[in-house]
Amino acid sequence: MKHWLQVVVAVPAHSAIAGPLTYKSATALPPGTLVRVPFGRREVLGVVWDALPGSGDVAEDTLRDIAGALDGLAPLSATWRQLVTFTAHYYQRSLGEVALAALPPQLRELSSEQLARRLKRATPDTSHAENTTDLVALSAQQTCALAEFDLESSGQQRPALLFGATGSGKTEVYLRAAASVLAQDPEAQVLVLVPEINLTPQLQARFEARFAHLGKERVVPLHSGLTPAQRLKSWLAAHSGQARLVLGTRMAVFASLPRLRLLVVDEEHDPSYKQQEGARYSARDLAIYRAKLESDKAGQPHGICRVMLGSATPSLESWQATLTGKYQRLTLSERIGDDSALPTVRRVDMNHQPKRCVIAPPLLAAITERVARGEQSLIFLNRRGYAPVLACHECDWKSDCPHCSAYRVFHKSDRTLRCHHCGFTERVPRACPGCGNIDIAPLGRGTERLEEHLAELLAGVTRPCGGAVRISRIDADSTRLKGSLEAQLASVHAGEVDVLVGTQMIAKGHDFRHITLVAAINPDGALFSSDFRAPERLFSLLMQAGGRAGRDARHSQASEMWVQTFHPEHPLFEALKRHDYPDFADQQLAEREMAGLSPFGFSALMRAEAKTQEVAQSFLNAAAQAAQAHALPGHTHVTPYPAVPMTIQRVANVERAQMLVESPSRKALQAFLAAWQPLLFETRRQPEFKTLVRWAIDVDPMVI
Ligand code: ADP
Ligand code: ZN
Ligand code: ZN
Repeated sequence: MKHWLQVVVAVPAHSAIAGPLTYKSATALPPGTLVRVPFGRREVLGVVWDALPGSGDVAEDTLRDIAGALDGLAPLSATWRQLVTFTAHYYQRSLGEVALAALPPQLRELSSEQLARRLKRATPDTSHAENTTDLVALSAQQTCALAEFDLESSGQQRPALLFGATGSGKTEVYLRAAASVLAQDPEAQVLVLVPEINLTPQLQARFEARFAHLGKERVVPLHSGLTPAQRLKSWLAAHSGQARLVLGTRMAVFASLPRLRLLVVDEEHDPSYKQQEGARYSARDLAIYRAKLESDKAGQPHGICRVMLGSATPSLESWQATLTGKYQRLTLSERIGDDSALPTVRRVDMNHQPKRCVIAPPLLAAITERVARGEQSLIFLNRRGYAPVLACHECDWKSDCPHCSAYRVFHKSDRTLRCHHCGFTERVPRACPGCGNIDIAPLGRGTERLEEHLAELLAGVTRPCGGAVRISRIDADSTRLKGSLEAQLASVHAGEVDVLVGTQMIAKGHDFRHITLVAAINPDGALFSSDFRAPERLFSLLMQAGGRAGRDARHSQASEMWVQTFHPEHPLFEALKRHDYPDFADQQLAEREMAGLSPFGFSALMRAEAKTQEVAQSFLNAAAQAAQAHALPGHTHVTPYPAVPMTIQRVANVERAQMLVESPSRKALQAFLAAWQPLLFETRRQPEFKTLVRWAIDVDPMVI
C-alpha cells in the first residue's frame, strides 16, 4: 500500500514553490518525520508536514518516492511545526525555507545510519538531584519578583517583563525561575535566549555551574559560533529531551524542545534578536508566540509554558505592553550590594569647549585622575577604523568606494582604505589619485584614531607604580582573529589595561569590575536620526555602558558616566542623568503615539535591489499600484508610501530602494501582505523588471 505525504524542503527564496510537495512512501510516516527526498536531480532533507488521504490533483505516477526517513529521530512536534508555519506566514517567506533553516545544517548531510551513530540514546533524567551549591539569599525584591511570577503561572499566564538595571540581580532571578521549573518536572526544559553569546562567556559559565547537579550535558549552548558538529550535538540533545536547559542566540528560538516550560529572553530590547536576512524574524516576538503555543498544547499539571523577558531598558513595545497590562511587570529597582549606586552622569556641553577638541579638558582631567589612582576607564565611540574618510583639500578628492554610495574608511594599522559595506579594500594611495597632492588627510575620527589621540594626551601620565599608561582598543577590527576578543577581555579583567577604547561591542554584557569611568565621545548623531528607533538604541546603549561602571562596591561611590554633547538639555540626556528609563519611555511613547509609530502602528518595509535605482523604485511602485488595483484585503487600513532610495543607496554596485508600508492594524497589514505576495511575483515577471536582482519584505523592521 502507498502513502502520500506532504513534505517541505528548502527551496530558493523566490521560486514559485511556496508550500509542501507531495511524495509517495511505502510506509506511513507521522507529520514531523525527517525524510530525504529527491528534488530535481539532488536528494535533499525534508520534513513531513502532513499525511494525505490520496495523491490529490497530482497524477499518481508522476509522484516520486521518498528516498528514506531518518527514523532514529522522533518526529518534530506539532508545536514546532506550528511555530514554523506562523513564522513563514508572518514574515512572508516560504515554509520550506523557514523549516530547513531552523534545523542544524549538518542534519542535511547525514544518512540515517550516520545519524544513528551520533544519537546517544537519551536516558530521561529521573533522578531528583538537589542543587548542592550554596545559593545566595535572594534580596527582598528578587523574592517578590519570583513570587509574583509564580502567582501567574496558575492564572492568565501573561508574558512577564523583568525590569531592572544592570547589576540588579536579573540573572539570579532567571536562574531561580529555571531551577524551579526544572525541579517541578523531571522532564521539563528551559530555553534561555541571549543577544550575543560570545560577548558573555561569564553568563554561560554561571548557568552551567548552577545546573551542574543535573548531570553531564544537561545545559547546552546553541548559536552560530559552534562548529557544525557541536551544533548538531546540542540540537539532538534538546530534541531528545536530554538537554534540560538550552542557552542560545536568536536561532535557538526554533530549537526542538519537546517539553519546553520556560522561555527567558535576556536583554529583550537588543536589536540582534531581529534576524536581518532571509526570514527576518524577531526571536523575542517568536518566543512569546511559542510560549503561547506550548501552553495551549499542554493541559497536564506542569503543562504551561511561561516567558520572562528581561532588560534595564526594555523595548518600547514591551514597556507599552506592561502599561496596558498585557504583560506582567516585575521590577528590581535596586542594584545588589550595599553601595553599588548607579554612576553619576556628567554632561559636557561641547558648545563651551575648545573648538574641534575630541576629549574635552574636564573629561581628560577625569581620565587622568583615574589612571593616577590605578582605576580603569572605558571610552566609547561607535565608529571603527582610523577615520571615516580620507580627503584631499587641493582637489576635493575623497575616499569613495567605487562600488557603493559610501566612503571607504581609513584603517591606519594596515594602511588600507576599506569599505564597510562591500568589503572592497585597497592600500592607501601615496598621493591623491585626483591631483597627485601627497598631502591627503583623514577627516573625522574612529576608534583607532581615538586610541592614538588618547595615547598622545596621556603620554605624560603615570600609573601609581610609575609605569606608563596602557591603552587598549576593542572593536570588530581588533577582535577579528578567533580567541582575540577573549584574550583582550581577559587582560582588561586582569587589570592590564588602564583605558579601554571601543565600539558598542564593549558596552554590552561584560562585567568590568574595575571600571569607574565610562565616557561617550560623540553620541549626538542618534538624537536627530531619521530612524525613529535611534533614540531608543542610544538610550539603552548609554544605560548599558553606564552599567559597566561601578559594579564593584569599593569604587561605585566615585563612578561616573560622561557624555559629550552639543545638546546637554536634550530630554534624553535629562532622563539618562536620572537613570530614569520610565521617563524616557514616556517621552518616546508620547511622540510615537502622535506619529502612529510602533507600538501604536505597524509597518513593513518592501526592499528591492536592481542594477539601476530607477528599476528598483519602479518595481516597488508598480507592485503598490497592482495592490491598489486589486483592492487587497486590509487595503483601506494600509498605506504604502512611494519608493525611496535606501540611506546607503548603492552597495557592491547594486542600487537599493525601499517602500514603507504602514497600518494602524497588525491584522490588516498581515492580510494585505499575504495577498500582496503573489502580485509581487507577478510584477517581478514583467519584462521591464528583468534586471531586478531581488526583493524582500521586512515585517516589523528594526531599522528604517
Ligand atoms: P543582572 O543580571 O541584573 O545584571 P546579576 O544577577 O548578574 O544582575 O547580579 C549582579 C551581581 O550580584 C552578580 O555578581 C550576582 O552574583 C550578585 N547577586 C545577585 N543576586 C544576589 C543576591 N540576592 N545576593 C548577593 N549577590 C547577588
Ligand atoms: Zn587631490
Ligand atoms: Zn563598497
